[in-house]
Amino acid sequence: MARVAIVTGGTRGIGEAISLALKDAGVTVAATYTGNVDKAAAFTERTGIASYKWDVADHDACAEGVAQVAQELGSVDILINNAGITRDGTLLKMSYQAWKEVIDVNLGGCFNMAKATFAGMRERGWGRIINIGSVNGQAGQYGQVNYAAAKSGIHGFTKALAQEGAKFGVTVNAIAPGYIDTDMVAAVPQDVLAKIVSKIPVGRLGHAHEIARGVAFLCSEDAGFITGSTLSINGGQHMY
Ligand code: NDP
Repeated sequence: MARVAIVTGGTRGIGEAISLALKDAGVTVAATYTGNVDKAAAFTERTGIASYKWDVADHDACAEGVAQVAQELGSVDILINNAGITRDGTLLKMSYQAWKEVIDVNLGGCFNMAKATFAGMRERGWGRIINIGSVNGQAGQYGQVNYAAAKSGIHGFTKALAQEGAKFGVTVNAIAPGYIDTDMVAAVPQDVLAKIVSKIPVGRLGHAHEIARGVAFLCSEDAGFITGSTLSINGGQHMY
């Protein structure tokens, strides 16, 4: 029977590319979203991939959402923690709310979703969890103390959870993308983006499918000996 995956934030951007790559690999995919109902409906119509609405920062909603997916599609074997937001600003200008929202969605979402899926994976003796970190969690970034802290936390979360899953056939890895041409990066002012691109050795932004191929590999049977790793896909921007 086909494996079942949940891709959080899986109906657009990098998440959409991941949903499609997993579907191509024969996985039954549930793609989640939180606000963009029209885009999610269009995505499901275009791809045939089921979409589900819940907020990854809401602990109970994650448990209920995972239970619904399990009932409708089957037990969840693969979790891709991809949902993420930015609320940029220097520390002096950043509100507590902007700090908390970014931590709750980016890092809290990983905890909430892992809590709802990890026990089942361990019981069944097979699982894959891939957390989407960031080059800015590895290297830091001006104006992003919230985002860099959350993404850096994801890398620690990955290594700790990998140790809890290793004996049970559950691998836990992270991918740290560099700058990828999605809506998130479109929000960066053009002059700032031009400076960033000038520092990327390959000389361009990355594409969502370049992250998705890495995710699909880490979810495959062939990747069973890889756990607790971070795969950097950043055009050589930060060789970590
Ligand atoms: P986008 O802004 O294009 O998409 C973000 C996705 O996350 C959307 O699907 C959105 O859902 C979902 N989402 C946001 N908040 C929540 C929430 N509270 N609950 C559930 N889903 C939520 O981002 P990208 O595709 O660019 O980024 C995907 C991931 O990759 C993020 O974790 C990001 O931090 C990371 N990343 C991106 C980089 C880039 O250059 N683009 C670089 C490094 C890391 P909805 O459609 O409903 O709004």
